Amino acid sequence: MSKPWITFDIDGTLLHNPYWRLHLGPWIRIQARRRGIDWLQLWHPLALEGNRRWKSGDWSGAYNWADIVKTVYGLRLPQPQTVPWDTIAALTLPGVLWMLSALTALPVRLGIITNGLWSNQGPYLKSLYWENVFETIVTTDAQWVCKPNPSVFLAFPGPVLCHVGDRMFHDVLAAKRARTTAVLYQAKQTDEDRYDPISPSRLAPDYILHDYWSFPDLIQNLLCHTPQ
Ligand SMILES: [Mg+2]
Repeated sequence: MSKPWITFDIDGTLLHNPYWRLHLGPWIRIQARRRGIDWLQLWHPLALEGNRRWKSGDWSGAYNWADIVKTVYGLRLPQPQTVPWDTIAALTLPGVLWMLSALTALPVRLGIITNGLWSNQGPYLKSLYWENVFETIVTTDAQWVCKPNPSVFLAFPGPVLCHVGDRMFHDVLAAKRARTTAVLYQAKQTDEDRYDPISPSRLAPDYILHDYWSFPDLIQNLLCHTPQ
């Protein structure tokens, strides 16, 4: 039997939102400074447009910030570029680098499912050399679906042992719909924005992680109880 997959969300799960922290956020602050206004004044119309797209079913458009900036302000937002390893490694969540290294000793394959676009996430994954760590990386623009649609798991041939993410209404719901084990990474209180209106009335993860130090043991346990 092929090695099962462990899939991970990126933002808030493996990394502290590098596209926002290193690219979109600084760009908005520069634009706001030029205009002499608070950055939130520039950000709120962009967030509203993103939410409007999400609610209308334009899932990849909801994460296409360059297009949102162009639509709302008629400005060109540059594409992000690769950054030095130290810069991006500083944005990994505690224990992530150790945990990924520990998982390489186990009979599993690693994948990523992000609702972000490849153009926005790829440079940071490349900067971490994570293209060599994760065998399959699913982005919204590659699949034209996004979490919580369970179709995001179709890119992974073979069984998915579990999906790890920080959002109930993206990660846990997608995993439950795909009938795989849902692991909620909950370093802080989870939010409920962008929930799916056809969500079940009760939704709970199978496991809650407060840090990654015990995660390889959890995977060992899941592997022991998974029919081979
Ligand atoms: Mg996330």
